[in-house]
Amino acid sequence: MRLVLKLGSSTVTRDGVLDAPRLIDYARAISTLRDAGHQLVLVSSGAVAAGRAAMRAQANDPVVVNKQMLAAIGQPRLMALYGELFGHYGLTVAQVLLTRADLDDRRRYLNARNTFEAMLAAGVLPIVNENDTVATEEIRVGDNDQLSALVCSLVDARLLVLMTDQTGFFDANPRTHPDARLIERVDDAEISATIWAAAGGGAGALGTGGMLTKLKAAEIARRNGADVVIADGRAPEQLDALVRGESVGTRFCATAPSRDARSRYILAGLRDGVGVRVDAGAVDALRAGKSLLGVGVRAVDGEFDRGDTVAVHDADSRVIARGIANYGADELRRIAGKRSSDVAAVLGYDFGPEFIHRNDLVMW
Ligand code: GLU
Repeated sequence: MRLVLKLGSSTVTRDGVLDAPRLIDYARAISTLRDAGHQLVLVSSGAVAAGRAAMRAQANDPVVVNKQMLAAIGQPRLMALYGELFGHYGLTVAQVLLTRADLDDRRRYLNARNTFEAMLAAGVLPIVNENDTVATEEIRVGDNDQLSALVCSLVDARLLVLMTDQTGFFDANPRTHPDARLIERVDDAEISATIWAAAGGGAGALGTGGMLTKLKAAEIARRNGADVVIADGRAPEQLDALVRGESVGTRFCATAPSRDARSRYILAGLRDGVGVRVDAGAVDALRAGKSLLGVGVRAVDGEFDRGDTVAVHDADSRVIARGIANYGADELRRIAGKRSSDVAAVLGYDFGPEFIHRNDLVMW
């Protein structure tokens, strides 16, 4: 099986420094999986934490607040440690630093995919992190939970494992609700409102994650045909059982078979908070396999450019599709609800009647 394993800062560090003993356990567990024929991609945080430790800076140190600089200092240290530890088990590691812009751009996306395929075919372990040093707010994925879901879709993996500092996903925050219960399995196609509410808690002290970003990651990956497991990062030895399908932590089951490569590319481009709300006629047209026309758009949320991936919501704010915008948000605001024949008169030009062409559309 092909799988993506994500280790967050709370898993790879202890008391603010890289936790070599724990990472040795991961190196052993991962090499066992590889020897059993599995293909694995590791997504690891810890660059900023390692940089901070190297600079002997406290969190929020007023002198060393620049996380991009800390990531630049810490990333090679993180990789050096991985190189050494995995080396003990005969595994060669490779560093892959990505930003959202790499996944948005079709050519870079395909390049990244080919390189991953080459590495996996050669038995190399790709270790992915966000390219924090160059990633400004607009081009960041922002957290490694969602980055790992995008990587999972990029390499078409069947399993995404998100390691965290709890034993799984609970129906309430176990830090504040001692009677919170572990949810072992989520089969429903829609993640329920109760589960989203339970994820509402804030992020951990070191990572940018938290349960909310894990849930968002699960939502992306399971709709691309991967099971997603949230498990206890302090117990690397569970990895083997988890990959065999045993009940460990919380499993969100895949809701769809694997999607074709073009759909996965479209879905990789999605950002939070950008989308359109459409009328009932447009919903019917989309379900019947037609394109989304500007005339069916009722409201435009967020800012996006032509070529970006946006979500399509129905009147009840349910996501029904995602697709590539043929008009930017500002243009669309001017032509939303207007007939196709009026578009050129309003804008002075037109890119055709479709806001999202059916070939650029993925039904949800
Ligand atoms: N890229 C960051 C780091 O390596 C972590 C981001 C995250 O944990 O979500 O420090």
